[in-house]
Amino acid sequence: MDRPIYLDYNATTPVDRRVFAIMAPFFTNSFGNAASSGHPYGWEASQAVERARKQLAHVLNADPSGIVWTSGATEANNLAIKGVADALRFHGKHIITQTTEHKSVLDCCKRLQRDGWEITYLPVDRTGLVTAEQVEKAIRPDTVLVSIMIANNETGAIQPFGDIATICRNNGVLFHTDATQAVGKIPIDVIADGIDLLSMTAHKIYGPKGCGALYAPQHDPRVQLNPLMDGGGHEGGLRSGTLNVPGIVGLGAAVELAIQELPESARRLKSLRDRLENEIHRQLDNVTVNGHRTSRLNHVLNLSFAGVDGDALIATLDGIAVSAGSACNSHIREPS
Ligand SMILES: *Cc1c(COP(=O)(O)O)cnc(C)c1O
Repeated sequence: MDRPIYLDYNATTPVDRRVFAIMAPFFTNSFGNAASSGHPYGWEASQAVERARKQLAHVLNADPSGIVWTSGATEANNLAIKGVADALRFHGKHIITQTTEHKSVLDCCKRLQRDGWEITYLPVDRTGLVTAEQVEKAIRPDTVLVSIMIANNETGAIQPFGDIATICRNNGVLFHTDATQAVGKIPIDVIADGIDLLSMTAHKIYGPKGCGALYAPQHDPRVQLNPLMDGGGHEGGLRSGTLNVPGIVGLGAAVELAIQELPESARRLKSLRDRLENEIHRQLDNVTVNGHRTSRLNHVLNLSFAGVDGDALIATLDGIAVSAGSACNSHIREPS
């Protein structure tokens, strides 16, 4: 079968063959439950999980004890936002986010609104960015959390997350960031950048689907969150359920490879993206690049073709697999 060229890597990536090879034994021979503390099968699984925890922590400059394994970024965003809201419900009732967040952030906020929380949705400018000043103006005495992504999944626009984190820290408000599109693509340092909570997933960086993580430092008394699920009390009580050992091993391997190869891949992808962008501009009029021109992920290109419907255009492109919007909103038929 002749399949189209895949250009939809922000929706998902294939698993890197090197990552797959590292995961494989954990489906078969090394199948133990990481919580089985009484025999070598459990020890082997637990050691692999702790190794992956160190790999991810190292990439984020985090303490490994602050990494909570989840089923992906959707769950990590839910745990961060609803978990903090539940833990701090007697301290305030206001959360700040922005309009181009992923559904898993926006819909958490909507649910909290139904439960009586007040949410400020900051508008973005023409380039897709909010400013730290906007955040500062929106902070109220009853604000407990700001949730703003590092990089946007549709445009690649990179928010001024360090400045926003500083504003939050100075005002005693927790800062959560959905870093799903940024981990492994740009350097992130949770300590230097002032990030309190961070969500990520494996399947956007050549790791497996169904495995992600929330960074939530449990040694930091400011970072309070309650679990969403009750059960065996795994992951320091924050996320009960038997760990997805092969997935976690794959996440660790994928994030380590992404960082090792980042200097080379950033250069290669930027040059490919810029070449495509320049050729399209050279050959077509009325094309606009969406998102910020410089504060943008190297591998992302988001274009508008004036007067042309995105879905109709995509339907004519047999040779390439692209998206007119986030896969998570793909049932919605309006321009993003
Ligand atoms: C893909 C994506 C998610 C969801 O991740 P899952 O692991 O598929 O749940 C969340 N946020 C952003 C920005 C994403 O791109």
